[in-house]
Amino acid sequence: MQTNSINGGSGTPPTFQVTGKMSTFGGPDDHGMSPTEGLALFEPVDASDPRYSYLFLPAPPPGTSGLGRRLDPSKFYLACRWVYSETPRDFLRNNLATILNPQNGRSVSARPVDWGPNPDTNRVADLSPGVAGALGLNTDDFVTVSIYQSSPALSAAVAGDGHGSSNPRPKPAIKEFIGSPNHSSRNGANIEMVVLHCTEATLQGTLAEFQNGDPSGRQVSAHYVIDRNGDIYQMVRDSDRANHCRGANQNSIGIEHVGLPNDTLTNLQAKSSATLIAWLLEQYDIPANAVYGHDFAPDYNLPGGTSCPDKLFGPVHSQATIATWVNNNVLTT
Ligand SMILES: [Zn+2]
Repeated sequence: MQTNSINGGSGTPPTFQVTGKMSTFGGPDDHGMSPTEGLALFEPVDASDPRYSYLFLPAPPPGTSGLGRRLDPSKFYLACRWVYSETPRDFLRNNLATILNPQNGRSVSARPVDWGPNPDTNRVADLSPGVAGALGLNTDDFVTVSIYQSSPALSAAVAGDGHGSSNPRPKPAIKEFIGSPNHSSRNGANIEMVVLHCTEATLQGTLAEFQNGDPSGRQVSAHYVIDRNGDIYQMVRDSDRANHCRGANQNSIGIEHVGLPNDTLTNLQAKSSATLIAWLLEQYDIPANAVYGHDFAPDYNLPGGTSCPDKLFGPVHSQATIATWVNNNVLTT
């Protein structure tokens, strides 16, 4: 069981934790919510805030005006009976909860959006249908919901304002933190390089593989995955070691870019990647010449090497291609 994924790898006690039965809520088909029912943590204006808009459908479903029915049921959100004197509304809006299915050890991160369920239900959490599906949960199954106070880097990611560090650059917006169980401690190693990858797979395929902690699988992960449209997903905290570059994981940050072997980066993807790399270089005091393509990372030791990062950064498979791209993109942002 991947219980390591709920303690954040740090041993820090959670700010919020509850275990009990769950149900699902929200979205156009939730007729248990009235058409006008809102959300305790979000106002209509938040549906157009770039930090939160992913949670909502582009327009209210016909005949509804409340945010409850406008939730996109495929996204990851939840409600618990928060005590606002312990976890204030702003804290909840700016942190993600980890939801664990103890039956199969799977966990995902989801955003608190509402207060509930009613105590009469004898349930402790209402989850989005998307969370329930991802974790293989049915109504009245048990879950554990935890919120850990974010690391400074992660809270900067969530708040999107660089608060908590001296980095003059804001961390680019993270669309969703989707925890991967495939991470471990850096054992005190410093972050000294950034390793760039090509997924050679779709976004959905990559997210699914990185969430699969089954020991019979590859148990791989990366800190970040950047989609073709520029959306950035985070799957491992910067402070933890991800499994993306054998021999070079201890002191590196791994960034996956969605693409097939003959693809180049899209403009939006290049912009997101350059902005993220620029933030990482500043945040961890990494020199620009320590941004490597997967196959060229020092200490990378998979026999036979890899074609990764393929042609994403230029047609020639060389570290010089990567260095030129960094010069032309990262150092100009
Ligand atoms: Zn790679």
